[in-house]
Amino acid sequence: MKNIVVMKFGGTSVGDVSALNTSSSIIKMHKENWDGIIVVVSAMSGVTNMLLECATKAEIGDNQGYEMIIDNIRQKHFDVLNTIFNTNHNQKIEDEINLLLSELNSICYSISIMGEVTPRGLDVIVSLGERMNARVFSAILRDKGILSQPIEATQLIVTNNIFQNASPLMDESEIKIKKELQPLLKKGIVPVVTGFIGATKDGKLTTLGRGGSDYSASILGACIDAKEVWTWTDVDGVMSADPRVVSNTIVIPELSFIEVGEMAYFGAKVLHPKTIMPIMDKNIPLYVKNTFNSHHLGTKIIKNVSKKTGKATAVSVIKNLSIITIAGKGMMGVTGIAARTFATVARTKSSIVMISQSSSEQSICFVIPEEKAKIVSQELTTEFQRELERDDISAIIERNCVSVVSVIGEGMRETPGVAGEIFTALGENNINVILITQGSSEYSISFAVESEQANLAMQKIHQKIIENHQNSSGEKNE
Ligand code: ADP
Ligand code: ASP
Ligand code: MG
Repeated sequence: MKNIVVMKFGGTSVGDVSALNTSSSIIKMHKENWDGIIVVVSAMSGVTNMLLECATKAEIGDNQGYEMIIDNIRQKHFDVLNTIFNTNHNQKIEDEINLLLSELNSICYSISIMGEVTPRGLDVIVSLGERMNARVFSAILRDKGILSQPIEATQLIVTNNIFQNASPLMDESEIKIKKELQPLLKKGIVPVVTGFIGATKDGKLTTLGRGGSDYSASILGACIDAKEVWTWTDVDGVMSADPRVVSNTIVIPELSFIEVGEMAYFGAKVLHPKTIMPIMDKNIPLYVKNTFNSHHLGTKIIKNVSKKTGKATAVSVIKNLSIITIAGKGMMGVTGIAARTFATVARTKSSIVMISQSSSEQSICFVIPEEKAKIVSQELTTEFQRELERDDISAIIERNCVSVVSVIGEGMRETPGVAGEIFTALGENNINVILITQGSSEYSISFAVESEQANLAMQKIHQKIIENHQNSSGEKNE
């Protein structure tokens, strides 16, 4: 089959009756244009957080607390079923949802007795949102006259065993995906696959990290050799900045894989940071579209954009970060300090957002998630105990409440002076820059600021570099 499309519907696109109706109509409308449509669904919006809250309540022994949330989750799904179907139609799905939620109750009960939850346990808990919703959405499609079947991605996507942030094993996944999905597509059935989840080779359920349904869609797309992958969300496409923070954002009509990769890595929530990895090599275009404004063209993400925007394309932010600085005059010329530093950070399983070393070799700075700052500084203090005693290293400093703002765009490579404009905009608004790095690809410039200045930094850079350029070049928003 040549023309296969994977369509992923995010949480708000499948979050209530009206959204589910709209999303299922979209599939009905596009069905004839493709040899096969594979649907990937997220949990209903809010449900993943509710599930996580169940685990937190269970951990502190608040049994009533998690039972109440479980009831709310049940109600949310039953309300949808009862509105869309009459009771005869939905009894089977209600039974399945009840079964999944009683599983959740038992898991929470064991957590409450043990007083702790493992990453593996958390994955089983958060998977339930997608597992319930795939059943609901598939039933709605059937009700609209479309042949459809829910499928658990545990049967399709094989991953490593990094619970909560698993990566796919593409070769193994491809075999399973082709074997399971091709026969369904040939029969005209629309499989509704649970986003966000996979399983290890020995069948343990894993998740691909928060927002992972985008990643599920691109994994499926690459493995089945889809012609295109579409993600349906609640905004008109990838925008020049987070629309919740910056007004006058622009929908970017075309982006390269590399640009969108940088944007997602540096905090643009619209796509999971790893989404482009599986489809990039196969050159499968990715479209980001708005479920609630489905005629808008959205954003097309491809290898090479036909028209490069003059300066920067987008600005994004990652919040809740800390800067760790290792400083000392005795570090100069000493080999191995950097290697030991990063080996120590790796042992704490913290990912480093950015790194900077001063040219005099008297300090190494790096940025990590704030929640890891304590453990990282403790481990570094142990690792460098001798150097600290000898005063070769004078201090390991932890600075919290930091955000990293990134300015991204292929156009920056060819346009001199963008960095100057960025830092002028910051200076004019008294925004203090703590640390700067330029991506080795020259597609991005990132800098750390105090979190309370991050939104202002985004707004001012957007105004100066993106809006002004749009205005002066006469480009229109949509
Ligand atoms: P979904 O559930 O459909 O995956 P998400 O909430 O994960 O949706 O992502 C979409 C949201 O990402 C948008 O509603 C928007 O508020 C936010 N967002 C942040 N940065 C951007 C950006 N640069 N472009 C578009 N949306 C963005
Ligand atoms: N439901 C998951 C989350 O909220 C995955 C997703 O929506 O993409 O993180
Ligand atoms: Mg998302």
